[in-house]
Formats: sequence, C-alpha cells, structure tokens
Amino acid sequence: MAGEPQDDCLFCKIVAGQIPATIVRETETTVAFRDINPQAPTHVLVIPKAHHRDAAALAAAEPAVAADVLRETQAVAGEEKLESYRIVFNTGSGAGQTVWHAHAHVLGGRGLEWPPG
Ligand code: C5P
Repeated sequence: MAGEPQDDCLFCKIVAGQIPATIVRETETTVAFRDINPQAPTHVLVIPKAHHRDAAALAAAEPAVAADVLRETQAVAGEEKLESYRIVFNTGSGAGQTVWHAHAHVLGGRGLEWPPG
C-alpha cells in the first residue's frame, strides 16, 4: 500500500536503520543522507520516510510531504554552503531512476553542465 514500508525497498531499510547510511538531516517526514556513489563533491539524497515509488506518486498522495522534501533540499544546500546546485528527481527508468522510493538528489560543489545527459 502506498506510504507503507516495503520489505524489498532499500530506502525504506535506510529509514528503518536496517541499512547504514551517512545521515545529514532528519525530520518527522524526511531523511537526507550522502549518496553512496557521489557524482559531485556534495551529493545528498532527500527522501520521504513514507514509501512512494517516485516523485509523481509522492506529490499525488502526500503533497505536504513532497513540500517537506523540497524544503529539506534547500536546507541541505544551505548547510553545505552551495551557491549553485541542482535538485534532480529522476522519475522512470528512462530518466535513470534505479531506486523505486521517491528521492531528490542535491548535487553541487562543482560546475554542472546543461543539458544533462
Ligand atoms: O535516481 P536514482 O534512482 O538513479 O538514484 C538512486 C541513488 O541511490 C543512486 O545515486 C545511488 O548511488 C544511491 N544509493 C545510495 N545508497 C544505497 C543505494 C543506492 O546512496 N545503498
């Protein structure tokens, strides 16, 4: 069921503390942790604690939590002292989504090209 923890979900396991992660921020509804395979000097993932398969599902089911995720991306950028940064929600396999629990990437600390690949 949407929002409920999924046994086979990596990020639900991080929320539950069953898989280690370097957590940088936590709120009632969100967790932010460093990406295990960083693509920039700062690469932090912000996720809702509730399980939703992607950003679209999260926004449809729990728009207030989607706003919490977005607010937390800005908090991470502030803590990391990023002047320029990119927030990315890969949505769907064609866009590079590999983990099916909604997450925002916060990328910064180097120049970022546009358009992305
Ligand atoms: O947008 P996408 O689904 O591809 O992003 C998933 C991200 O989760 C990847 O950047 C990957 O490095 C990260 N990851 C992680 N910790 C894990 C497994 C994946 O930070 N244990």
